[in-house]
Amino acid sequence: MKEGKRLKLHSTVNPVDIGVRVELPAEVMEELTSTVFEAKFVYYSRTFEDRVRTFCMCPYGEVVMENNDGLITVNGHSHAERKTPNTNFALLVSKTFTQPFHEPIAYGRYIAGLANLLGSGVIVQRLGDLQSGRRSTKERIAKGLVRPTLEEATPGDLSLVLPYRHLLALMEMLKALDQIAPGVNSRNTLLYGVEVKFYSSRLKLNAHLETEISNLYAVGDGAGVTRGLMQASISGMIAAKGILGKK
Ligand SMILES: Cc1cc2nc3c(=O)[nH]c(=O)nc-3n(C[C@H](O)[C@H](O)[C@H](O)COP(=O)(O)OP(=O)(O)OC[C@H]3O[C@@H](n4cnc5c(N)ncnc54)[C@H](O)[C@@H]3O)c2cc1C
Repeated sequence: MKEGKRLKLHSTVNPVDIGVRVELPAEVMEELTSTVFEAKFVYYSRTFEDRVRTFCMCPYGEVVMENNDGLITVNGHSHAERKTPNTNFALLVSKTFTQPFHEPIAYGRYIAGLANLLGSGVIVQRLGDLQSGRRSTKERIAKGLVRPTLEEATPGDLSLVLPYRHLLALMEMLKALDQIAPGVNSRNTLLYGVEVKFYSSRLKLNAHLETEISNLYAVGDGAGVTRGLMQASISGMIAAKGILGKK
């Protein structure tokens, strides 16, 4: 970003992705995860038409905490050897701000900060409790069929943290996913919040990912072009094809 400013390159405001980490019995996702390790689904919420996507599928994995400069957020990973009975993945709602606000990162930090304030870190809630309009408690989580792999998460109420449009979009997406993998929308499914993905601000680029300076290309996450492994790789190929096409 500093280098972009030095070179007087224009940039655009990127979205901020805010959502939850979903954890459920691995069997529910087995058909998908045994076919493609990282299944990616995109859904446009009916009510607000916001884009909701799955991210970072962790078959037989565990939910973990992440420290972003003092802000505790949630993430997930799978181990090659150690397996848990659960699968987890992120569900993220993308929001782009227009005018006058252009600080998506501050917004994301604010929402994640609310979860930290109420739960002293990450909050976990049973989907059934969320649907019934009540908080989760230790006892209610214990009654559920899914054992949380992140034991440090505080049982609480994500509806006190996530904005209405985010919460609704997530619940609509869970319902839609249930048609593909029956059991996703079960009352026992666990939701951890908040998961948040920040994008770097994106440089103004042409279709070949070339900047306003001829022969200077920007690809991958650092340039705010992508936010994932596959996209980052493909963005390199698009730039390479653009360079080859110039010759
Ligand atoms: C914990 C975690 C989990 C993730 N899980 C997933 C997932 O499940 N699925 C998914 O699709 N994506 C996931 N991602 C995102 C994914 O890792 C990134 O989108 C991807 O790695 C971006 O690729 P990149 O080549 O743009 O950047 P990077 O992989 O970050 O590569 C940039 C490289 O540049 C080097 N570098 C930086 N500065 C300099 C410098 N000044 N000079 C020389 N070298 C420099 C860095 O050391 C690094 O090696 C995850 C990311 C994290 C952090």
